Amino acid sequence: MKSKPHLRQMHKATKAIHAGIGDSVFGEVSVPIFQSSTFSFPSAEEGAARFAAEKTGYIYTRMGNPTINALEKCIAALENGYAGMATASGMAAITTVCLALLDNGAHVVSTASVYGPTHTVLEKEFSRFGVEATFVDTSNLDNVKQAIRANTRMAFIETPANPTMAVTDIHKAAELAHLHDMIMVIDNTFAGPYLQRPLDLGADVVVHSMTKSINGHSDVLAGMIVTKNEKLYQRIKPVLNLFGGTMDPHQAWLVLRGVRTMPLRVERSVENAQKIASFLMQHPKVRWVRYPGLPDHPQHTIAKKQMDGFGAMICFGVKNGLEGGKTVMNNVRLFTLAVSLGGVESLIEHPASMTHATVSRNERAQAGIVDELVRISVGCEDFNDLRDDLDQALKRIQR
Ligand SMILES: *Cc1c(COP(=O)(O)O)cnc(C)c1O
Repeated sequence: MKSKPHLRQMHKATKAIHAGIGDSVFGEVSVPIFQSSTFSFPSAEEGAARFAAEKTGYIYTRMGNPTINALEKCIAALENGYAGMATASGMAAITTVCLALLDNGAHVVSTASVYGPTHTVLEKEFSRFGVEATFVDTSNLDNVKQAIRANTRMAFIETPANPTMAVTDIHKAAELAHLHDMIMVIDNTFAGPYLQRPLDLGADVVVHSMTKSINGHSDVLAGMIVTKNEKLYQRIKPVLNLFGGTMDPHQAWLVLRGVRTMPLRVERSVENAQKIASFLMQHPKVRWVRYPGLPDHPQHTIAKKQMDGFGAMICFGVKNGLEGGKTVMNNVRLFTLAVSLGGVESLIEHPASMTHATVSRNERAQAGIVDELVRISVGCEDFNDLRDDLDQALKRIQR
């Protein structure tokens, strides 16, 4: 059996297909699903040695499993990190990192428009354990500077952020964080490791919802943590094992299957997104378009510098506000009305009438969610069909 250590030097599309795969037993090409909760020890001495970490070898799936391990190696290689830790969901990755790295009395500076549940966890749940959080627009680093206190231990940054599509300069944010002895965590879900590698730019920890573009088929919930060094890995890994937000082997196998086509899927969806953004820019029923790939995006230059492509998420404002948004939702035939992102199928969402309909208009506006805002996750379909579908739905807007 040949292992593939040379893969670390290869390109990202090769890593997505080969990294982590290689410890075969019978020459199998796909990683088997080791659907076993526990692993036998050949002797008492061997069992003791494994528990003492004197010998490598599996013990119990919450602590490690060959299928899960293959996926961890693959994503760690893609992120150019030290090691990966697979989790049950993206939220399990985020909460595990916070549980491991934040003590009572600590303070976090976070991107204001982080993923909703992340905002709630930091604001409402961790405050129960004496952890404080300040939410600022991190695309302007002066805001971060002003928010830092003596007890600030972590910067939690999402870029591009949702739904504003604001981009934070990862390299500069990392310099600022390290100047103040803070750990910088990046939620890299939106861009994914194929388009953006925060550890190369100075971040300490990357978290992912692999539910999105890494798996890419809208059929699995999964998360991943990757650290830049062994020290951070050793701080987080025991916490994950103890709190138990770990992954199941079958889940790992599905994501391994998904990640092997990630390069193809991401390239196609980014190509489609760029064309759709240009199409929307010229549409008479569209008031504005926010996409990091458009020259009028406020952080277009930073996005160009730190991303290999501008992603597959677009936000735009339609004419006739709330009604206009509803009209589009109720008339698209190919786009699917759903939250989530990064799948092969294109999704569309109108926060004001759907996910955030119960939130007051004022609160929505504060979070950057204006009535006219429509968000799309561009998939891998033929561009012409996607364009035609949006066009016919937009044309039905009255004013
Ligand atoms: C979906 C998402 C999450 C949460 O991931 P789950 O797998 O749903 O738990 C976290 N961050 C971002 C940016 C997401 O899009």
